Amino acid sequence: MPADALKCKECQTTYPLEARFVCQRCFGPLEVSYSRPEGDPAALKRRIQAGPHTIWRYADFLPLAGPPRSALPTGWTPLVKADRLAQRLGLGELYIKNETANPTHSFKDRVVSVALARAVELGFDTLACASTGNLANAVAAHAAAAGLPAYVLIPHDLEEQKILATGAYGAQIVAVTGNYDDVNRLCTEVSGERPGWAFVNINMRPYYAEGSKTLAFETVEQLGWELPDRIVGPIASGSQFTKIARGFEEWVEVGLLEGRAPAFNGAQAEGCAPVASAFEAGWDICKPVKPDTIAKSLAIGNPADGPYALELARRSGGGIDCVTDDEIREGIALLARTTGIFTETAGGVTTATLRKLAERGDIDAGERVVLVITGEGLKTLDAVRGTFDVTTVEPTVESFESHVAVTT
Ligand SMILES: [Zn+2]
Repeated sequence: MPADALKCKECQTTYPLEARFVCQRCFGPLEVSYSRPEGDPAALKRRIQAGPHTIWRYADFLPLAGPPRSALPTGWTPLVKADRLAQRLGLGELYIKNETANPTHSFKDRVVSVALARAVELGFDTLACASTGNLANAVAAHAAAAGLPAYVLIPHDLEEQKILATGAYGAQIVAVTGNYDDVNRLCTEVSGERPGWAFVNINMRPYYAEGSKTLAFETVEQLGWELPDRIVGPIASGSQFTKIARGFEEWVEVGLLEGRAPAFNGAQAEGCAPVASAFEAGWDICKPVKPDTIAKSLAIGNPADGPYALELARRSGGGIDCVTDDEIREGIALLARTTGIFTETAGGVTTATLRKLAERGDIDAGERVVLVITGEGLKTLDAVRGTFDVTTVEPTVESFESHVAVTT
């Protein structure tokens, strides 16, 4: 499915496949458009199945001249059947798409891999980003693997684990005294001043966004070339949420799949819920908010793809909900204790939202549900600090027996 242009999502004006992200005519966002793939679906399927166990097996659906010759292997993360969590919530068939298994332990490796590969094709020599943390990790690591310098701009109050895990790769870290929306605005301005810099989520955004489709492709393959009935995933900017849907739709369009695309349920934190609020109020656009939540990786107060996330949730028969910080902590514990998967706060948001949907009776017993866990718990350890006790004993059996109760 060769990429043939950048196209405005609002007025459909097309542009060449260069580093451009805003429509000159209407200021709408641009996305990659594709022409129909050559060959029949069976040949396409064989080509995918013969590919590497990384996102590059889906090169036919990515906006690149070709897959990079060398890159940090990304994708093909496990789809874990979560029977104990399903039973706890009274659900039928439940899977976890475990994105913590990526090289820097979040789904951001997918989008950065594609943005970096395209940036190199376009001749950029430096990688940069505006980040709430996970993206900073991924940009730093993939730039290091490619031998490019990296600059990451972050809000100054980010979790220490994410800053340390970024600096370790040698990236230049710039902490901005403001929130993510301030960082993002600054990056947009700086990108005009530094022509050699590829800001993965600013001037490379149309290419970057395409990386999220690979999560959908993998899920289909891992379900034996079938569609799930429902996706429950987080919403920050709304880009990942809408591009996962696009992945399913593309495969139906080219004949690799039959059936109806899944319902999409978005998850936000109550302390930063512009999309959930708009969904509830019946609005088509989001009212920007000032974020205040422990789910910092989702703390985007003015989400660029919010209107498209709203449209998807309504069109697909899903919805968008928000959960409190306490519910997020409970969600992290629920997932960890029923599946063995430790997630960061964003995964607590999606797990708590799944619980809310189940308790409300919004999910039929016969549905096949996929819960998207986007990042690793070691990145947000503060969220679990103080939630359990450590038993201290002397090194004797007597002390052990008198202090350690038997769990039933
Ligand atoms: Zn336009």
